[in-house]
Amino acid sequence: MRVLVAIKRVVDYNVKVRIKTDNSGVDLANVKMSMNPFCEIAVEEAVRLKEKGIATEIVVVSVGPSLAQEQLRTALALGADRAILVESDEDLSSLAVARLLKAIVDKEQPHIVILGKQAIDSDNNQTGQMLAALTGYAQGTFASRVDVAGDKVNVTRETDGGLQTVALNLPAIVTADLRLNEPRYASLPNIMKAKKKPVEMVTANSLGVLTTSTVKTLRVEAPAVRSAGVKVGSVAELVEKLKNEARVI
Ligand code: AMP
Repeated sequence: MRVLVAIKRVVDYNVKVRIKTDNSGVDLANVKMSMNPFCEIAVEEAVRLKEKGIATEIVVVSVGPSLAQEQLRTALALGADRAILVESDEDLSSLAVARLLKAIVDKEQPHIVILGKQAIDSDNNQTGQMLAALTGYAQGTFASRVDVAGDKVNVTRETDGGLQTVALNLPAIVTADLRLNEPRYASLPNIMKAKKKPVEMVTANSLGVLTTSTVKTLRVEAPAVRSAGVKVGSVAELVEKLKNEARVI
């Protein structure tokens, strides 16, 4: 069974992002970039499927700049077998990324495609769903448990009110939620071994995919700066402030 995992290069989750002075986007100059945390969970799940003897090959794919090879190498060090970079310096919409991933799915014919539920830079939460629509594959989103059983995969989904388990016919798309697993760290020997694993480079053109965007970002703003809090001297003062200043009671 072949598992395809889509990983995105994003600003590291520890970085406090700065907005460009013209409000056109986030300033990426000299900013640490990493694999999207939900994609790390997706890679870990694929590696666990291989360790259980269910998956036989893990292919990781990223759409992004040449530097995204760094994140692909990390995935190879974590246990993926080979990688594909769809090289693009454009600011691609989710639909364009989903179309490119569909071209890779057509080529690779995976049984399961695992994506993160969300990329922490754009917070779109739509690429997996769009890929499912484009491929016609069944989808199990927000997965907190994945069990492959014969020609089906049972996915337990995190919903607002609890958990829902669905059985999907293979091939299927799964998007990883936070509680699916705890990703491992890459060991030094595996980082060294990953340098020798194959990374194939392709372009949108060579895949025959049009990436013209239907969405344009108009403006990006940082959250409003919160004013400092005050310490009240008594419960009576607190009630007075809630009533007359905040007007919430
Ligand atoms: P999003 O819909 O943008 O929130 O992203 C959800 C998931 O789709 C991510 O966690 C990745 O698994 C996948 N994805 C989004 N953008 C890319 C990309 N440029 N390259 C590879 N995978 C991506």
